[in-house]
Amino acid sequence: MSANKNRFTPEELQEVAQRLRDASPTEIIAWGVEQIGAANLTFACSFGYEDVALVDIVRSISPEINIFYLDTDLHFKETYETRDRLQERYQVRFTRVATSLSLEQQAKQYAPDLWKSDPNQCCRLRKVEPLRRHLKGYQGWITGIRREQAPTRAHTEVVEWDPAFGLLKLNPFAFWNTSQVWNYIYDKKIPYNPLHDQNYPSIGCEPCTRQVRPGEDPRAGRWAHSEKIECGLHNTPLK
Ligand code: SF4
Repeated sequence: MSANKNRFTPEELQEVAQRLRDASPTEIIAWGVEQIGAANLTFACSFGYEDVALVDIVRSISPEINIFYLDTDLHFKETYETRDRLQERYQVRFTRVATSLSLEQQAKQYAPDLWKSDPNQCCRLRKVEPLRRHLKGYQGWITGIRREQAPTRAHTEVVEWDPAFGLLKLNPFAFWNTSQVWNYIYDKKIPYNPLHDQNYPSIGCEPCTRQVRPGEDPRAGRWAHSEKIECGLHNTPLK
């Protein structure tokens, strides 16, 4: 848990979340900036379509808001290329957050292809712990999660306290639907991951993501080889 203190009571946050429900993503992030300052906010960018739209919004609000990505060393090449195109378009360098454990060390110390034998452990090593270390330097984080994405996200509020990581959490797209996000991307001609046009609606690490078939849930391609549905970033961290 970070040394961050929740300066809001649960009732206050609930009231703000209620009031900002219909506010634009820009207004929601601007509220966060007003409360804790742009330099104390960090945005978790996965380069999925919600997040490329948020790069545009975050950059239009303040260049002081840090933008980072969790580099597991296992992303698709198209994901890294999307990162590069966004950096070029927005003239920004995203912070790379990663474990110091190389894939070779992981294979030796744990198991080869740990993502198959123990994906929770793999996510903890390569995503959750590096994220925890990064978030310790901030008072609030911005994410692209939406209610519509999964039953585990159905109660997401636009503003909430994140008890797992101990800081404020802003989810400016909580109430947006898929078309709203895509319309924003097309309108602004924002670079996005071309895999989205090849039946990959939700993109994570390459070993844990497959194309979805017609009629499948958009997240059916994530961890299809296991029972896992979340990586531990947006729920109680994996124990
Ligand atoms: S998504 Fe898969 S490969 Fe990526 S960190 Fe989690 S288990 Fe490992």
